[in-house]
Amino acid sequence: MNNKPATASTSPRFCNMGNFMRLPKLTDLKGQDFAIVGIPFDTGSSFRVGSRFGPNGIRQISVMMKPNNVILGVNILDKLKGGDYGDINVVPGYIEKSYANIEKEMDEILAHNIIPIGLGGDHSVTLAELRSIKKKHGAVSLIHFDSHADINDLVFGEKYNHGTPFRRAVEEGLIDPHKSIQLGMRGSLYDADEFKKSAELGFRLIPTHEMREMGVENIIKAIKERVGDNKVFLTFDIDFIDPAYAPGTGTPEVGGWSSYEALQMIRKIGDFNYVGFDIVEVAPCYDAGEITSLLAANIAFEFLSILAVKKK
Ligand code: MN
Ligand code: MN
Repeated sequence: MNNKPATASTSPRFCNMGNFMRLPKLTDLKGQDFAIVGIPFDTGSSFRVGSRFGPNGIRQISVMMKPNNVILGVNILDKLKGGDYGDINVVPGYIEKSYANIEKEMDEILAHNIIPIGLGGDHSVTLAELRSIKKKHGAVSLIHFDSHADINDLVFGEKYNHGTPFRRAVEEGLIDPHKSIQLGMRGSLYDADEFKKSAELGFRLIPTHEMREMGVENIIKAIKERVGDNKVFLTFDIDFIDPAYAPGTGTPEVGGWSSYEALQMIRKIGDFNYVGFDIVEVAPCYDAGEITSLLAANIAFEFLSILAVKKK
């Protein structure tokens, strides 16, 4: 039988458009250390949509990435086996159906003892990833880089949205908030007590202005104090970075971090027991010169680098 194009009624057109770092497409999960997993879902966005094109945007410019991390002294592909799993077939417009699909495919990936490298999608997808992580690893620590805490109860009267995943994750027992940390929050807020509410949920939240006072070394120390030896999921919302460096995102906040500072922070938090990672909220339609996608590709690369160093 001749080949036929995938039908858009089961596999959205923006899925499976290319491979991260020009790595092979994973046809067999057995024996792999990591899998790049696109999660092109943006129905959870409250303002600008477009992060459904994030995985493809990141993959497209990730052709720039080479395997050697000179600063960490490691060739990631000498140390790690992995490739591009492709995209999870989300259901545009339907968050709970999408969550079910994400969870099911993540279960399959985790069953092979693989560390998933999720490419969002908006931040609502992380809840579904964590549901799967919980089944495999129990309640994990969360390291959460973001300009927003994402701990609202309801948004537009709805429980599932990119502004609510970490309240839901605590309620569902997916993460241990007392061993988790939220970093980089800033910008104007509706709720003046939001940082206090994070603490009430059990998190430690360090807003950007306090991080600036602390300096990088003390920030790293604070993360270590929270996470310790626990299993940990790192979730990185690209709006942690200043929109001057990362304009291609749905809900930008000014006064953020530079590309260099973010890469430097990731390089210094390698010594943890990581079980998963995602980079979310890249919306290429608001990008300029693909700089946001390029930064996201580099952040994923730095994360793979710290995994590779640990494996040495
Ligand atoms: Mn977020
Ligand atoms: Mn955010």
